[in-house]
Amino acid sequence: NQSLHALDPEVAAAVDAELHRQQSTLEMIASENFAPVAVLEAQGSVLTNKYAEGYPGRRYYGGCENVDVIEQLAIDRVKALFGAEHANVQPHSGAQANAAAMFALLQPGDTILGLDLAHGGHLTHGMKINFSGKLYNVVAYHVDPATGRVDMAEVERLAKEAQPKLIVAGWSAYPRQLDFAEFRRIADEVGAYLMVDMAHFAGLVAAGLHPSPVPFADVVTTTTHKTLGGPRGGVILSKAELAKKINSAVFPGQQGGPLEHVIAAKAVAFKVAAGEEFKDRQKRTLEGAAILAERLTQPDAVEAGVAVLSGGTDVHLVLVDLRNSELDGQQAEDRLHEVGITVNRNAVPNDPRPPMVTSGLRIGAPALATRGFQAEDFREVADVIAEALKPGFDEAKAESLKARVTALAEKHPLYPEL
Ligand code: PLP
Repeated sequence: NQSLHALDPEVAAAVDAELHRQQSTLEMIASENFAPVAVLEAQGSVLTNKYAEGYPGRRYYGGCENVDVIEQLAIDRVKALFGAEHANVQPHSGAQANAAAMFALLQPGDTILGLDLAHGGHLTHGMKINFSGKLYNVVAYHVDPATGRVDMAEVERLAKEAQPKLIVAGWSAYPRQLDFAEFRRIADEVGAYLMVDMAHFAGLVAAGLHPSPVPFADVVTTTTHKTLGGPRGGVILSKAELAKKINSAVFPGQQGGPLEHVIAAKAVAFKVAAGEEFKDRQKRTLEGAAILAERLTQPDAVEAGVAVLSGGTDVHLVLVDLRNSELDGQQAEDRLHEVGITVNRNAVPNDPRPPMVTSGLRIGAPALATRGFQAEDFREVADVIAEALKPGFDEAKAESLKARVTALAEKHPLYPEL
């Protein structure tokens, strides 16, 4: 039983290089975070060896006494964290949580109403070549180009016209809170289920800093690795009356053996998310995103053709509109990468450029907040970003901005114990 370094130096070297990359650069991809060492430890444990098809107390395999304890802890903790009646912690990912939830509520050919991918929705909310677009008849709602906010009048109109069986509320790239009560009202009006995909903002909800969709939705899905800061994975929360349908849609409907090592890590993450430190971190996340939005709406940024969609943010991310800038999304992403800041390019609504290029950036604060960034640090990184996006970027400027990034990274060491 050799160590990774001894057995497979090639993989070990790449893992080491990735640790160094995470430590020495600033991670601002809005869907990423840094899981605590205890989460990494649980995920790297012997639980990876165990088959446990079924649910705690009702397994199809022997020897499940320990994984039963772990999975029940995860279930109880996530129900308490979000005030949910039922939880399934087995989905391997957010996409699989959504697939199982839809499988539980819908038949192939049923109509779903979701936010258009190009306006901030997720692939699983009805994109053409995703399972959701292939299995279901998809109608998409949009953001109002004038306000950058979801057009609830359009949601209501489309719901009445299309009579969907399911309305999906949730997003991957949207800087504002959704009106869950209004979605519920519309769903009730047309007799549709309401599913909220809170993957992006679940951490904010857990900390009580964002309205909870749980009282309004029939089903709430989430990932556990974004603002929640846990292992990569998914969870489904629902009303008690849907528990059986949801569980059988996950297993045996969609998945075989659950990843008990990941479920253990989810349990740890839910424990962390119930604590005061987590709440403080989410507060700093919101503050960081707000600082970023403020800096990118200053006159020098506006002059450089930089704009912020919807004029600001009330969540953990900012969407930068570069349609009037000399940079496209790809160039802006590359430029920030050059100074040591990692973000992703992102389409803006009605983007004139193709999806591989885009005219926008999605920039998030969660990972830096986890690293310990305070308001002054977010002000510094926001200024570096604004400077990098201005015209006149040359080698000297790149070097000086990179030095400022390195200073911030060194001020907040990541995983010193590793
Ligand atoms: N739902 C939303 C809103 C997301 O943003 C994402 C991921 O980006 C997912 C679901 C899918 O999660 P995963 O990548 O774990 O499948």
